[in-house]
Amino acid sequence: MEGTLNEELLDLVRAARGLLAEWSEEGLERIDPPEPTQESPPPASTPAPRESGHTGELFASGTWAEGVTLEQVRAELGDCQRCRLHEGRTQIVFGDGNPEAELMFVGEGPGEQEDLRGIPFCGRAGELLTQMIEKGLGLADVYICNIVKCRPPGNRTPHSDEAATCARFLDGQIAAIRPRVIVALGKPAASLLLGRDVAITRVRGTWQEYRGIPVMPTFHPAYVLRQYTPEVRRKVWDDLRAALMRVQEG
Ligand code: URA
Repeated sequence: MEGTLNEELLDLVRAARGLLAEWSEEGLERIDPPEPTQESPPPASTPAPRESGHTGELFASGTWAEGVTLEQVRAELGDCQRCRLHEGRTQIVFGDGNPEAELMFVGEGPGEQEDLRGIPFCGRAGELLTQMIEKGLGLADVYICNIVKCRPPGNRTPHSDEAATCARFLDGQIAAIRPRVIVALGKPAASLLLGRDVAITRVRGTWQEYRGIPVMPTFHPAYVLRQYTPEVRRKVWDDLRAALMRVQEG
């Protein structure tokens, strides 16, 4: 009896593993916890503190005022406590690079190094990204940021409510920089910018749009480090070269 139970459990584990492997190939990078039911209502959200008196003028009807600057967007973000991610952060990681960059990279969220140093993509994944941008594309001036500005605990993928809360500030960064092309690094960034849940394996390498700006989704550098195969590297290069060509087309 015990033996049969063990075998059944093993079968279940094998089936679950197979399913996870399939989903991962499809581009699934996380599984959300179940939606709260009526028995377990979501915790009441604390109203976001007003960080400045700007909100009305700078962010009217869901869009930022024309000519908004990165400094204004950063000031609006303030000492943000709009979502639970602020609880575990060392500091906000807003963004880095040339405010007039033509090419903008959007990642997922700060990792440990980024949280400590306050600079996006300064850890291992960042080294690879910097190498690809500087040596590969020959670019010095880009702007890099993330969909969430605070480190998710244990480097987990940001939850959709956290990404949605922070989306307004990414939108502000894009409005301030007005890049010619945005590269979305990985599924969370691509899903946020495209406004739908996407499988990165399907959309990478295809042109998309965010508020009229061309978006090229590609694999996240952390994924490239994990899957350091010639095929994955070639795909990322193809995507980055396509992005660069689009920038140069003017
Ligand atoms: N991964 C990200 O998505 N962003 C960072 O800033 C660092 C690692």
